[in-house]
Amino acid sequence: MTNIIDGNRIAQEIRNEIKAKTERLKLDTAGIVPGLAVMLVGDDPASKIYVKRKENACNEVGFYSREYKFPADTDEKTVLATIDALNQDAAIHGILVQLPLPGHINPAHIIEAIDPAKDVDGFHPVNIGRLLTGQTCHMACTPKGIMELLDRSGIKIEGKEAVIVGRSNIVGKPLFLMLLARNATVTVCHTKTKDLAEVTRRADILIAAAGKAEMIRGDMVREGAVVIDVGINRLGDGRLVGDVAFAEVSPRSSHITPVPGGVGPMTIAMLLGNTLNAAMVGAQTD
Ligand code: NAD
Repeated sequence: MTNIIDGNRIAQEIRNEIKAKTERLKLDTAGIVPGLAVMLVGDDPASKIYVKRKENACNEVGFYSREYKFPADTDEKTVLATIDALNQDAAIHGILVQLPLPGHINPAHIIEAIDPAKDVDGFHPVNIGRLLTGQTCHMACTPKGIMELLDRSGIKIEGKEAVIVGRSNIVGKPLFLMLLARNATVTVCHTKTKDLAEVTRRADILIAAAGKAEMIRGDMVREGAVVIDVGINRLGDGRLVGDVAFAEVSPRSSHITPVPGGVGPMTIAMLLGNTLNAAMVGAQTD
């Protein structure tokens, strides 16, 4: 029987844990409250929704949050100056710049300007380098959320064949490092992979992160595989689907994440977790 992994339930469980730890931190440190600054440049509708969700999540767990909204034609220097001020701001433990940015702003300049200790998205090259070399760091939220889903669903990772479809900097590549660190044998597929189905059929754990609606079909999945669907795709008729053809794949899989309600809710839960960690580390060094 297929187990549907309930990302909403697991994310709620994690938010409850974070809320309890936030209350404890406040008591133990005479008032430290984790603080997250979220910056939005322009008025991309999807980005606005994500920023609102992050603010709501901060309120739910008792964080302090601050939002910075800039018009789309704001220059890079203005954004960098705000990051510089936030890097010095003791009330702010995490800084997040909502991507994508308008074309005239170089995202690498922005990400690299954030103090790595406050880079709660885990995108700064210092954090990526620390992840690569097995050091403590802020880890990218979506892949970290996938690892939590696997762990909290009792899925063993060590010794398993894991196949990731997609090699982006925010999902595929960091997830590769996280699975490797947990002793999986990991293959990463991309647009130039020959015979994708032959590779995906080898997977004990298959993660689809390509952004292509329902591209993983039933015959691409081994019987009994764990299938994690990262994709979020809006169809012409308005329906939201993942990268996995759920109706075909779920009867073959031992565990599968739905879209929506699988990986999606975990990303914000991990962002909260990284911000709490940053505040706790700050409390130890103050
Ligand atoms: P991206 O476009 O940056 O990268 C996609 C990757 O998939 C590329 O490496 C590309 O080589 C590979 N790819 C594309 N088509 C392929 C094909 N036909 N065969 C093999 N490989 C293929 O995307 P991204 O930012 O990593 O996001 C991927 C998907 O995950 C999107 O649908 C995105 O919306 C979703 N996403 C969800 C969350 C979440 O919180 N749930 C977070 C980030 C991204």
